Amino acid sequence: MIYLDNAATTPLDENVLNKMLPYLRGSYANPASQYKAGRETALALLKARDKSAQLIGCKPEELFFVSGGTEAGNFALKGACSAQRDKGRHIIVSAIEHPALIESAKDMQKFGYEVSFVKPDNNGVIRPEAIAKEIKDGTVFCAVMSANNETGVIQPVEEIGSLLRGRGVFYYCDCVQSAGVLPFPVKYCDALGISSHKFYGPKGFGAVFIRDGAPINRLVSGGKQERGLRAGTSDTASAVGCAQALENAVNFRDENAAKISALRDGFEKRVLSEIGGTHINGAGARLPSHSNISFDGCEGENILFLLDMAEICVSVGSACSAGAVKLSHVLTAMELPEDRVKSAVRFTFGKYNTEEEVDITVRELKKAVGKIRSA
Ligand code: PLP
Repeated sequence: MIYLDNAATTPLDENVLNKMLPYLRGSYANPASQYKAGRETALALLKARDKSAQLIGCKPEELFFVSGGTEAGNFALKGACSAQRDKGRHIIVSAIEHPALIESAKDMQKFGYEVSFVKPDNNGVIRPEAIAKEIKDGTVFCAVMSANNETGVIQPVEEIGSLLRGRGVFYYCDCVQSAGVLPFPVKYCDALGISSHKFYGPKGFGAVFIRDGAPINRLVSGGKQERGLRAGTSDTASAVGCAQALENAVNFRDENAAKISALRDGFEKRVLSEIGGTHINGAGARLPSHSNISFDGCEGENILFLLDMAEICVSVGSACSAGAVKLSHVLTAMELPEDRVKSAVRFTFGKYNTEEEVDITVRELKKAVGKIRSA
C-alpha cells in the first residue's frame, strides 16, 4: 500500500508505542488513585504535560488533555461562548475551518448566536481585513486555523491574533495540521488545539492550550481531572505517547520538512508537466506535506477509486451521503469553479513516503486520468 493521506492520520511511531506500553499493561493504575501505583501514573501524566507544554511553549497549567482536535474545537468555541454569554452573542468562524468548528458554530446558532462565516481569497488565505470587517460590539469568539487540512495553505494567524487581541475577542487557532511543523502561535491566541494522531501519536488524544485567565467554561462535567475543566479518567498511556510524538516532530522538524517537501514538490512538478489540464489548489505558503490538485475532465472520486485499485490511498474533499455528492466546503469557499472543485484530489505526504512511491503514484495517476478522460 502507498499511503498518501497523512493529513487524515499517521501511523504510530515505534518509540511512541514503546513509551505507551508500560502504561497500558503493568502501570495501569488510575492517576487519581491515592496509593503508590496511582501516584506513579500521576507522575507520568505530570511529566507528559510538562514536556508537551514546553514543546508548545506554554505553562503546564495552561495545557488540558482532551480526546483530539474535534473536542478541542468544541471545547474552545462552546466553552468561550458560555463563559462570555453576558458580553455578546456573535462569533466569527472562517469558512475553511474543520467541521469541528463549523458544526460547533451551527450548534450555537440554535442557541441564538449569530455566526459570521468568513471566506478566504482565491488562494485559500483568510485575510485579516476580512476578519476585521466582521468584528462588532458583541463579538466574543473567532476561529481561524493555522493551516488548512485540504490545501495546506498557511494562514496569517499572527496578524489575525494581534487584531483580535486588540479588540478583546477570544481567538482559537486550530493547529491540528501544523503541530510539529510550524511554530505554535501561543503568543497570538487565547487557545489552540492539537491532535496526536496527526503526528505519529495515538488516535483519540489531543490537547488544548488555554491562556491563563482566558474566559472558558467546561464542556465535560464530572470529576476534577484537568483542573476541573475536562472530566474523565486520564489516559496516561496516550498522554505519554502524545508527548513523545510531539517531541519527535519538533526535534526532527527541519529534517522531516525538507524530506517531505522535496517529495511533494517533485510529485507536483511531474504531475503538472506530465498530465495536461492539472491545477494546484491553494497558493502562497503551504505546509510541506499537502498537494491538492484538480484534473480537468475528471471526477476526483473516480481518480480516488482507480488509485485505490492500485493500492494508493488519497482523499477527496467531497463525501457521498445518500447518493448526493457533497463538494469540498474549502474549495467552494475559495470560489473555484465547480468542475475544479469536483475534480480535486488531496495527496498528503509523510515522513515514511519514498521517491519510489512518488514514481508509482505518478504512473498510476497518468493511467487513471487517461482512462477517465477517454471514457
Ligand atoms: N481540525 C483539523 C484541521 C483536522 O484536520 C482534524 C482532523 O482531520 C480535526 C480538527 C479533528 O481532529 P480529530 O481527528 O483529532 O478529532
